[in-house]
Amino acid sequence: MTGAGHTPAPPDADADAADMAAAPPPAASGVQHPWRDPPAEGQATQIADGVLWLRLPLPMRLDHVNCYALRDDDGWTVVDTGFDTSRTRAIWQALLDGPLAGAPVVRVLATHQHPDHMGLAGWFQSRGAALWTSRTAWLFARMLALDVQDRATPEQLAFWRRAGMDPGRLAARAAERPWNTGDVVHPLPLGYRRLIEGEVVRLGRRDWRVVMGEGHAAEHVTLWSQDDDLVIGGDQLLPGISPNLGVYPTEPGADPVGAWIASCRRMAVLAHDRHLVLPGHKLPFTGLPARLGQLADNHESALERLAAALAVAPRTAVGCFDLLFRRRIGDGEYGLALVEAVAHINALRLRGLVGPAGETADGGRLWGGVTAPPRSASNDRDDQTRPG
Ligand SMILES: [Zn+2]
Repeated sequence: MTGAGHTPAPPDADADAADMAAAPPPAASGVQHPWRDPPAEGQATQIADGVLWLRLPLPMRLDHVNCYALRDDDGWTVVDTGFDTSRTRAIWQALLDGPLAGAPVVRVLATHQHPDHMGLAGWFQSRGAALWTSRTAWLFARMLALDVQDRATPEQLAFWRRAGMDPGRLAARAAERPWNTGDVVHPLPLGYRRLIEGEVVRLGRRDWRVVMGEGHAAEHVTLWSQDDDLVIGGDQLLPGISPNLGVYPTEPGADPVGAWIASCRRMAVLAHDRHLVLPGHKLPFTGLPARLGQLADNHESALERLAAALAVAPRTAVGCFDLLFRRRIGDGEYGLALVEAVAHINALRLRGLVGPAGETADGGRLWGGVTAPPRSASNDRDDQTRPG
């Protein structure tokens, strides 16, 4: 899974376990769900005037993605799309013929580049829609859709080994075709409309302020209505589950956990209880200020647990699974747990709380507590990159 292969299923659930342990019950948290049930397949739920909530299935543990349709004078703006599969396309056709009443989709707005959100953007473009998203999302999506590999790259294998993947699992992965984004993403044609932090765009007869999030996906678009209380949150603003924060061989020194926490704090300044958040998964919700607090605090407490344990004895990233997730990680969620564990190690390294502490016999990098100040971030940020 080179780059930002999608993350929601297992790690969402992984982080969720920490979430539920750390957070007060929903009634006390301030998070409320005005709709108890999602729209049925091929149906739409009206959220507000000219705003429809749609749902598409995903063939994984997190088994759905939310999409939204905003009515404009010349047709619909569709927010996020689901994977590119024949089943998803058939459901979209039923939606277009049914709740969308045959009006054209003039624009697709992708909140971020993960395939459950952008999988059919190119398909809508081929039928005449424009694509709006952030520059990073578009570049990442197009790169990963084109970057089809028959075997895991040397950089990927080295990354897994250093994270502490056991030799048996590593050998099995080296021998099989890796997961490729292009398998579930329709080809993306050249050309898109860039969304920029702070700009105001008119969609669905409302003005929306563009606010970029970080951590789950680089330059993740959220939209804050200036005319009513709607917020389109994508995977940056989810209820109940915490999105995966992963580090990949594309940028081994990245700090998505630090970036995530900073985004939560920044958005907390904008958030009000009256906001109705339309998330990428699960149910629309109110109580955004409380939810942003939880989404940051879950990771802060995970970092505290990790720092305390590594100060006692060094571990690899994979060796931190029990501390991070507090349950057994199955095969289906192992890869996503690994990238999230590396992300938490990186955050602690950049805070100067852990540092290199040797290697295992299998080539896994051990991390332990440090008392000296951190080395410069620019050096520290690339020492997992080189294969071999
Ligand atoms: Zn998602």
